[in-house]
Amino acid sequence: MQTGSRVVVPFGAKRHYTGIVTAIYSEQTAQQDNGEGDAHEEKQKNGGKVDRAKLREVIEVSDPEPIILPSQLALWQWIAEYYLCTEGDVMKAALPAGFKIESDTLRQHYRPRTELRIRLTEAYRSPSNEAALTSACDDLKRAPKQQELLLKYLQYAEYADGLCNTEVTRHNLLEQSGLTLAHLHALLSKGILEQYEAEVSRLGNAGHQAGMLSELSPIQQTCRGQIHDAWLTHDVCLLHGVTSSGKTEIYIHLIDEAIRAGKQALYLMPEIALTSQMESRLRRAFGGRVGVYHSKFSDEERVEIWQKQLSAEPYDVILGVRSSVFLPFSRLGLVIVDEEHENTYKQQDPAPRYHARNVAIVLARQFSAKVLLGTATPSFESYYNARTGKYGLVTLGERWQSVQMPAIEVIDTAELRRKHRMSGAFSPQLLGAIRDALGRGEQAILFQNRRGYAPLMECPACGWVPRCERCDVSLTYHRRYNLLACHYCGNAYHLPPSCPACGEQRLRFIGLGTERIEEELHSLIPEARIDRMDLDTTRSRSAYERILSDFTRGNTDILIGTQMVSKGLDFAHVSVVGIMNADTMLNYPDFRSHERAYQLMAQVAGRSGRRDRQGLVILQTRSTDIPVIGQVRRYDYEGLYRSQMDERRAFRYPPFTRLIYIYLRCRDEQRLNEAATRLLSRLSEPFGTCVLGPEAPPVGRIGGLFIRKVMLKLEPSFPTRKAREFLRGIVAAMSSLSELSGINVYFDVDPM
Ligand SMILES: [Zn+2]
Ligand SMILES: [Zn+2]
Repeated sequence: MQTGSRVVVPFGAKRHYTGIVTAIYSEQTAQQDNGEGDAHEEKQKNGGKVDRAKLREVIEVSDPEPIILPSQLALWQWIAEYYLCTEGDVMKAALPAGFKIESDTLRQHYRPRTELRIRLTEAYRSPSNEAALTSACDDLKRAPKQQELLLKYLQYAEYADGLCNTEVTRHNLLEQSGLTLAHLHALLSKGILEQYEAEVSRLGNAGHQAGMLSELSPIQQTCRGQIHDAWLTHDVCLLHGVTSSGKTEIYIHLIDEAIRAGKQALYLMPEIALTSQMESRLRRAFGGRVGVYHSKFSDEERVEIWQKQLSAEPYDVILGVRSSVFLPFSRLGLVIVDEEHENTYKQQDPAPRYHARNVAIVLARQFSAKVLLGTATPSFESYYNARTGKYGLVTLGERWQSVQMPAIEVIDTAELRRKHRMSGAFSPQLLGAIRDALGRGEQAILFQNRRGYAPLMECPACGWVPRCERCDVSLTYHRRYNLLACHYCGNAYHLPPSCPACGEQRLRFIGLGTERIEEELHSLIPEARIDRMDLDTTRSRSAYERILSDFTRGNTDILIGTQMVSKGLDFAHVSVVGIMNADTMLNYPDFRSHERAYQLMAQVAGRSGRRDRQGLVILQTRSTDIPVIGQVRRYDYEGLYRSQMDERRAFRYPPFTRLIYIYLRCRDEQRLNEAATRLLSRLSEPFGTCVLGPEAPPVGRIGGLFIRKVMLKLEPSFPTRKAREFLRGIVAAMSSLSELSGINVYFDVDPM
């Protein structure tokens, strides 16, 4: 048994669990230092004595060699400590399901894949047997099909100078030669060829050839130099580069340098959807040295990538989403966090509620690796760290090949509506711009951050609104399925034939979803080829790629989408971007709403612009006088940052304080309220005025569970380690009280 190996441990007669060995000790050593329990997740700290009642027998050691490296275990511990969850939560998130063992059968999920291959028998395999092979081949003259098959085999095997240079599978041999299994069997029985079984990788990227790197422009070269300078004094550097400034080329050169120095690189992206475009760019540069890791791969594939990373020849470059911070690394030298501002880097549910950018920084520190955070719209936390000297800062203010930033025109939809000049959701300016672009053979992107047809259905007579039975939200109408759907729990409901409250027949739809925009646009510009990219149209990876490739190839004129269309994708022929309704983003009750609205709008605006003509963005809003609208129009990130930071400083929000939310969930609302009040009183002693709440979050009930939130705003002077100890202690003490059983309590540290 070794640290980092999986073991199987029984709990009761029938249940078996897989555990990870985190430490090994004998009773003697246990008396010397604080023993840590192995095999299960719970640590025993009882003054060095082992609590025998808690001991369980290990009935099987699953791995002869460890599958978790000591550095990974240390990272798991850090995450559990910082994000206030258990190491078991971290293990569940970190390990591919293929490593877990089914409780009842003890059978492992993971099975290696094998294939049948064909080779020459030993009698013909070496250069000294070349003559023998020639005569065997001649002997087949009277069986021309068999002879043909043998010659085909030699061709596919790249036979030269008496040696075969490539493996040939039975499947490919038969399929490519067009000959039959009977012909093959004849050659097998004659002892010329033989078949054998070989274990194969599911990773399937053998044969990718690495190519040349494209040269950096003088500006990009300067930028690369500045990043290196920043790394002399800082481990983390923020690259603030406008959209389409060629950041990716710089990343690729930095990765190349890391590989040449014998190091590994980790390239993090915020969304699975974005990885395929980046994968092909990285493959062009680094060929088969690139491994891709995310949850749309099968478990088997993820297990194989994990094992390859443990092997003597791991991938040099890993491209992945947030879960790839959990992979084993042996010589990590560089971490790139692309689009570092994206909140998808934060896992919301379940625990561990970790931020992959921050975990990546800790991971890098374990290896003394350098970190580059890249974005056109930095998160305020990272920008603050850069401005106050904690991170290095490099700015790239010019677009690649000096393409101009698109012009942003703000349209007052309230006024146009008064004058009856809106066509549904479309201002005359936006329709005109789309028609002009299509007339020139160019494309348009329309952005609306709501999916479905209409976010609200209402009875015009009595104001009745359909709501989810299990959540405190109104239902979104989806025309394609003619259903009302809850976007929180996924429940679907039939449309009522009339208002259940007053009997009114004509119910109306209020608000704007991507589906409705698509429908309106079809009737306004019937000749346009329109596609839609949102959660509803991209359930499968292939659907996403199909929509994207249709648009890239020009088979689609207009792409309508949610924030999916705002992220880092480059299209050469998009000259118009329409932001359908900025107000929904601005009215969200959160201290980050303006930061986020700016990021979304600036990012989607960046999709517009061609080499020969300045792009155009039409920004539709009722709130033309809100400062953030002007800041978007002028690309005034600094102005936004300054004004928002003043507010955050005044109202004590991050980065000037640390936030920890404590959530309580229960089916019984009254018991929940009692528990929340009790928690609050216990918290007020150590934390005083730092505690706020309890309150119901904007959606106060999800899936039948009522939710209460208690907020901790910790001043920088409050030691965070101590705060965590208090919190763990209070919750542990509360959970032993019987009247509070059945209440689920969890923490969200640094919530997004
Ligand atoms: Zn009604
Ligand atoms: Zn619901």
